[in-house]
Amino acid sequence: MRPIHVIGGGLAGSEAAWQAAEAGVPVVLHEMRPETATAAHRTGRLAELVCSNSFRSDDAATNAVGVLHREMRALDSVILRSADAHQVPAGGALAVDRDGFSQAVESAVLAHPLVTLARGEIAGLPPADWDNVVIATGPLTSAALAEAIARLTGEGALAFFDAIAPIVHRASIDMDVAWMQSRYDKEGPSGEGAAAYVNCPMNRDQYEAFVDALLAAEKTEFREFEGTPYFDGCLPIEVMAERGRETLRHGPMKPVGLTNAHAPAVKPWAVAQLRQDNAIGALFNIVGFQTKMKYGEQTRVFRMIPGLERAEFARLGGIHRNTYLNSPKVLDPLLRLRAEPRLRFAGQITGCEGYVESAAIGLIAGRLAAAERRGEALEPPPGTTAIGALLNHITGGHIEAIDAGPRSFQPMNVNFGLFPPIVEPRVDETGRRLRGPDRGAARKRALSARADADLAAWIEANRPPLRSEDAAG
Ligand code: FAD
Repeated sequence: MRPIHVIGGGLAGSEAAWQAAEAGVPVVLHEMRPETATAAHRTGRLAELVCSNSFRSDDAATNAVGVLHREMRALDSVILRSADAHQVPAGGALAVDRDGFSQAVESAVLAHPLVTLARGEIAGLPPADWDNVVIATGPLTSAALAEAIARLTGEGALAFFDAIAPIVHRASIDMDVAWMQSRYDKEGPSGEGAAAYVNCPMNRDQYEAFVDALLAAEKTEFREFEGTPYFDGCLPIEVMAERGRETLRHGPMKPVGLTNAHAPAVKPWAVAQLRQDNAIGALFNIVGFQTKMKYGEQTRVFRMIPGLERAEFARLGGIHRNTYLNSPKVLDPLLRLRAEPRLRFAGQITGCEGYVESAAIGLIAGRLAAAERRGEALEPPPGTTAIGALLNHITGGHIEAIDAGPRSFQPMNVNFGLFPPIVEPRVDETGRRLRGPDRGAARKRALSARADADLAAWIEANRPPLRSEDAAG
């Protein structure tokens, strides 16, 4: 059988290679380190953790990343297995001894009889005779390969910096203050969307205090970015505020074309708008609010916005080096490049974020690539599972539902806001009426239980072929 080629031996590439090999398909794994370095890796090992040593919460009952851990264990993930074997104490989190962890991944992957490691950079598009390729080169993809991908995918489809606006759980917005309306009640092309945005009004004093807070807030240094001009749509909100006190009021916070539904006669001085961020409408991003403020400062300053006083953030804003595709546009549902389907993508370059998420997408990409090589059909896990929800975020399984102007795809950690909604439990097992935080926890438990059942059914329906069959055949 001809091998598949996996480029990048990080979290996603190591997992993809393992999964494909376990499905009986030979793999050549290409890793450029140690000969060619990245700005963050320090060793030549596979699956090196570049920063924190935490895989975050291991609570599968009420935390989405814990659900993802559980699913990856059920799918024989080499990343989770190695993490479990090299745990260090971290309360409810799964944290690892980083050297022990990456050594364990490397030993397992390289000991596999179907995996061959090829050291060296793939400095351009893979050779034309590689017909089944997984590109898992991560946020720090080498320049030569990134440029080749950018040329292939077209203008603007590959981002090099990640400018993220904060994302808020819709349920935490105070709709007694905010209201839904699109500017000038403009409808989307299919007639929907006239009330697509959440609008948070500010009077003059509130706006002035907000600008003062933006200017005074502590910012993170971003050395790699220094000297690089900001590109369109990437200007941090505090940099806009530094350009003049009125800049925001004439930019992302302009109050025109909007009427406060709670006080139609009072014209707001400025308006912060939030745009739907996922199909199910559970998450909204604050439009134009990408920022370099420190996390604690963001929470404090953004909660000054009327209507967001009790906002819960699914993710906070930031700007950092991150090479990632506009995946909903350029990838098909099986993670293949529409323009060149022999190239499949995995890991952070697809627009997920974090060690666990990257490995999870590597897991599914490895299985999909192997199934394709074996001539078998494989449907990805359903969107009710953590892996399926993440995959939908990446490949745009949700995008048709959004008609709120041009939408910028933003990388994201797994979270319950990506899962399709569930009928919320109103009473506990004893029949007691659930309230407040108890109700939120019950909802998460229900989403987790549904994911568990649906993944089990998917595994049952997609049992990988036994390796003994391959040996025999
Ligand atoms: P990587 O793990 O980066 O693996 C990509 C691999 O591809 C690398 O080994 C690289 O050497 C190789 N490669 C690149 N180009 C080529 C080429 N042309 N040819 C051959 N090989 C190539 N996530 C967290 O969860 N927690 C954190 O604390 C955290 N901190 C981070 C800090 C920094 C500075 C950065 C950049 C990222 C951080 N991340 C963190 C995100 C983290 O990098 C990813 O979540 C994860 O490592 C991505 O996995 P990946 O397999 O997609 O990429």
